Amino acid sequence: MRLSQYILPTQKEDPSDAQVSSHRLMIRAGLIRKEAAGMYAYLPAGLRALRKISAIVKDEMDKAGAMECLMPELTTADLWKESGRWDSMGPEMFRIRDRNSMEYALGPTHEEAFTALVRSVVSSYKDLPVNVYQINTKFRDEIRPRFGVIRSKEFIMKDAYSFDIDQGGLDESYQKMAAAYRAIFDRCGLETIPVQADSGTMGGSASEEFMVASEVGEETLLLCEKCGYRANQEKAEFKRSSSEFGEKSALTEVNTPAIKTIDDLAEFFSCDGKLFLKTIVFVADGEPVVAVVTGDRDINEAKLKNYLQATDIEQADDETVVAVTKSSVGFAGPVRSEAPRIIFDSAVANIHGAITGANKTDYHFTGVEPGRDFVIEEEADLVEAVEGDLCPDCGEPMITRKGIEVGHIFKLGKKYTESMKVSVLDNNGKAVVPLMGCYGIGVTRTLAAVIEQHHDDSGLTWPASVAPFDVHLVGIGKGDEEKAAIDEVYNSLISEGLDVLYDDRKLSPGVKFADADLLGVPVRITCGKSYFADGELEIKIRKTGEQSAVKPDNLSKKIREILADHN
Ligand code: ATP
Ligand code: MG
Repeated sequence: MRLSQYILPTQKEDPSDAQVSSHRLMIRAGLIRKEAAGMYAYLPAGLRALRKISAIVKDEMDKAGAMECLMPELTTADLWKESGRWDSMGPEMFRIRDRNSMEYALGPTHEEAFTALVRSVVSSYKDLPVNVYQINTKFRDEIRPRFGVIRSKEFIMKDAYSFDIDQGGLDESYQKMAAAYRAIFDRCGLETIPVQADSGTMGGSASEEFMVASEVGEETLLLCEKCGYRANQEKAEFKRSSSEFGEKSALTEVNTPAIKTIDDLAEFFSCDGKLFLKTIVFVADGEPVVAVVTGDRDINEAKLKNYLQATDIEQADDETVVAVTKSSVGFAGPVRSEAPRIIFDSAVANIHGAITGANKTDYHFTGVEPGRDFVIEEEADLVEAVEGDLCPDCGEPMITRKGIEVGHIFKLGKKYTESMKVSVLDNNGKAVVPLMGCYGIGVTRTLAAVIEQHHDDSGLTWPASVAPFDVHLVGIGKGDEEKAAIDEVYNSLISEGLDVLYDDRKLSPGVKFADADLLGVPVRITCGKSYFADGELEIKIRKTGEQSAVKPDNLSKKIREILADHN
């Protein structure tokens, strides 16, 4: 590829809306162009890198026995109605109509589409297992598209779906995918941390996410350095303490006009947030539910949702809070509550002399005693684990890290196969519902994650496996003779089967070198003065900055060695 004829709009300045390195560098290196919020065009060099990632994904999926398909991105409303998700998907799903007013969604995910496909082609246990996948565009109307292609409205995902006759089969399909994912990310030069993820009501180890450790990650991970426990904060459990705290005293009603937040209350009562009982009203599947946790902790909605086995949960609006607590917002509490259902976090039973809202506007209770002043009928682990909490497996304090989720594997069980009435005959001729797994990789997000892990102050430092080119040839010559000599080097590299970007532009060496550093192709070859004088080319390894002189005879061997070392 001759750079003089190539679209590579590099820029010196950082784009003003870029908060993370990958976004900044993808724009500056001319890999992508912003079309609108959350929408990006892949320019030729960016697309080359993306295709390399897709090829690795495809290779490992095929090796694991999955079959590539390509589904329509336009999905009919009927399909979503079958599973019940037409109503539950919410505003993240783009919905459109055709000229006849037929409703469609632009696929945000394809469980329904693949379930319908497999339903139409399997009838017996002999047809299973099957694992089908595609590498295709997904559409999601994200509330906050940001960080370039890390969270966009339109992105490329590899999504796979396995169908098995029984749990043993599903476990095996899942393990195969877990192994394929490790191989994929490894080949892309990405260090990932697989963590336990929330799996809704499926429970257990039914879901894992592959995280790329990064300061800019939107996910919080809890990690135990001693025993290796790793979980997304959404899922993370921790060893709960049974030690009691606070001091017993009499229940007292205190006037607390307009003091509502835990911080305000802690100041007003001059005591630790831990002694407060935070009482939050939720609506789960249409029913109000109250959750009570100690004031030093945040509630984990996923844990509450799983405990309730709810499909949908959200914090109640003010009107519902007023109806449930019979007071204005900010004064809810478990004492003399008329709430239909209250779930207590397991730390609440250990508290003495707690402070909580009195279900009466402008009043709180002090000296609240569980058991005496309210009864704990339902108790569960409802709070988010934080840095320093004890590992649920070994009891060591855990650390937290930020992570970018690049992949997710999930045992779905019968969720879709049951609602969409898939059935096959087992070896006794009995109709059974197959078990399903789903497995996603954000291909475009993976590209950004690779860049998050591989860059320096001057630009990108690609792993060879996903770099848009193998070699960046910088030609520094004047006159037809010198140019012809550089062209010859270029042609010989191409004939060796290398992907070469040839900077043949009429620009200063400084500008060319800066662009080469910015684009970050693993090997830079300079063909200039020393070539014309002594027949020597300069070779530079982008990642290490190491430079050496090389004769044309040894060039491609040397390049191959460097590429093999920088995978
Ligand atoms: P997130 O929590 O980041 O929104 P998700 O749980 O919605 O992710 P899945 O539905 O499991 O994601 O999708 C599979 C993969 O697709 C994710 O692991 C991620 O790599 C990628 N992905 C999801 N949403 C986006 C997006 N808006 N832009 C780019 N990639 C995305
Ligand atoms: Mg999402």
